[in-house]
Amino acid sequence: SIELRRVRKTYGNLAAVDDLDLTVRPGEFVTLLGPSGSGKTTTMMMVAGFEELTSGTVLIDGKPVDRLPPKDRNLGVVFQSYALFPHMSAAQNVEFPLRMRGVRAGERRKRAEEALARVGLAGLGDRRPRQMSGGQQQRVALARALVFNPAALLLDEPMAALDKRLREQMQDEVKTLQRALGISVLFVTHDQDEAMSMSDRIVVMRDGRIVQEGAPEDVYAHPRTDWVANFLGDTN
Ligand code: ATP
Repeated sequence: SIELRRVRKTYGNLAAVDDLDLTVRPGEFVTLLGPSGSGKTTTMMMVAGFEELTSGTVLIDGKPVDRLPPKDRNLGVVFQSYALFPHMSAAQNVEFPLRMRGVRAGERRKRAEEALARVGLAGLGDRRPRQMSGGQQQRVALARALVFNPAALLLDEPMAALDKRLREQMQDEVKTLQRALGISVLFVTHDQDEAMSMSDRIVVMRDGRIVQEGAPEDVYAHPRTDWVANFLGDTN
């Protein structure tokens, strides 16, 4: 599980994230939805440990992680700003988190192969990222995020760069993988269809706060304010 308790991040006098309370239960898929600047990425960065909290606390599987560096939080991360290492092969990319954790070479290779197979890339471990399609690169990133059996996954617009067909295919694959592993996911997307089809729960954010949350059908059928209705109706 991932738990945020009164998590706050200020930049000067702007509260980018304003005392956010949010729990992703074990095996649950929760999506943050909201306009640009509503605090989604800042929230993800704080959970991952790439940004410090101004106040509040983050718990992973019930344990506070605020003092732990990203690699000790046991979270798999696929962020647009956290690209593959271009000078490493796919397999070396996937092995990287294991290397950071001191896993020995033989074991690393075996687990990287398994992780690549899990995302449909068996046999492609020797390729460099630039020798792979965008979708394949995203799969490598996913394999890298899953290889150490993390407690939860953080996915920030992981499919934004893909074309529509590939995107839909990846949505299915991510969902299937998530269900098979029973892993908690905190997800960010701008794509409302994606949020609708993938999420157990949608959390609508505005100005660093939650304005509504619930099952996707529920949020779409019963927007609580005009603002939410307008935001959800705005399908650009
Ligand atoms: P987008 O959908 O465009 O990615 P977002 O919902 O992820 O937006 P954030 O990137 O979390 O929003 O930004 C929330 C607010 O915090 C914005 O007003 C942004 O300008 C501000 N902000 C984010 N990072 C910084 C920073 N390093 N310094 C100052 N302000 C920041």
